[in-house]
Amino acid sequence: TPFDRARYLLAAHQPRQLPPDGGFEVAFAGRSNAGKSSALNALCRQGALARVSKTPGRTQQLVYFELPQFDQRYLVDLPGYGYAKVPQELQAHWQAFIQTWFRKREALRGLVVVMDIRHPLKDYDRQMLGYAMERGIPAHTLLTKADKLSRGAAANTVQAVRMELARSFGEGIGVQAFSAEAKTGVEQAREVVARWLWL
Ligand code: GDP
Repeated sequence: TPFDRARYLLAAHQPRQLPPDGGFEVAFAGRSNAGKSSALNALCRQGALARVSKTPGRTQQLVYFELPQFDQRYLVDLPGYGYAKVPQELQAHWQAFIQTWFRKREALRGLVVVMDIRHPLKDYDRQMLGYAMERGIPAHTLLTKADKLSRGAAANTVQAVRMELARSFGEGIGVQAFSAEAKTGVEQAREVVARWLWL
C-alpha cells in the first residue's frame, strides 16, 4: 500500500516548526485512548509508527509522518485530547495552535476522526468535525475497537452515528467500523486517505 513506508518526520509545537505549507496533509484526531495510534499503525502496517502509549507531556504536538516515495504527502497525528492531567494553560495552548493550524493550513485535505465505537461523538469529536465542515474540508470517522461489539451492534452504531452526523452537519461525513485488533475496515480507510492525498 502507499502507506507502508510511512515514517516519522517531525513533531511541531509551534507554527515555525511545520513543513512548508505546500503539500497534501490528512489529519488524524481523536480523544486520548480512542485508538488513534493503533489505527495509524494498522493503516501503515507498522507495529510502532505512532507510539501506542504516549505521555501527557507530548499532547501539545502535531506529529508529521511522511510518505517518502511521494512528494510532500503527510499524515498528521493531532494530539489526543482529554488527558485529565494536562494543565489548563497547556490545553489552552493546544487549542490555539491546533485551531490556527486547522483554520489556516492550506495543505490540509481531509480529517479522520477516530472514536471508540462504544463512546462515539463526544464534544471534542464534534468540535473537530465542526472545524472541518466550516472550511469545507472532507471528514471521515473511524469507529474503532469494533471487535469489542457484536457485528450487529457495530452495524447499529455505524447507522446511528451516520444519522446523527447527517443531522448535525449534513450529508458527506464518512462513517465506518474499524478494528486495529481484528484488522477490519483498514482497506476502506486507506482508500479514503489515499484519495485525499492524491496517491
Ligand atoms: P490513542 O490514545 O487514541 O492513540 O489510543 P491507542 O491506539 O494507544 O489505544 C488505546 C488502547 O486501546 C490500547 O490499550 C489499545 O491496545 C486499545 N485498542 C486500540 N485499538 C483497538 C482495537 O481495534 N481493538 C481493541 N480491542 N483494542 C484496541
